[in-house]
Amino acid sequence: MKLTIKVDPDLCIGAASCVTIDPATFLLNEENKVYVLDHGEAPGGQVYERVIEMTEDEKETLILSAQSCPTLAIFIYDEAGEQIYPDM
Ligand code: SF4
Repeated sequence: MKLTIKVDPDLCIGAASCVTIDPATFLLNEENKVYVLDHGEAPGGQVYERVIEMTEDEKETLILSAQSCPTLAIFIYDEAGEQIYPDM
């Protein structure tokens, strides 16, 4: 499945729990804001939004990592554009 992952840099406080849980998808930049990777790579540079092809297992890790964010700075959308995290 393809998921869209967005980080709101204004909400991110650099707590890095998302990076600990899902280092293939999140990495901190020099401003201590998390940006989004595609399986450990950053084609196109340090972006706060990316569409990623994921397996069901990878999706579970991603959701756990988003749930770990103390400021709910991570948003996840399905292929239809529906927000799947945080729950609406
Ligand atoms: S857990 Fe949230 S606040 Fe912490 S680095 Fe990740 S997105 Fe930023």
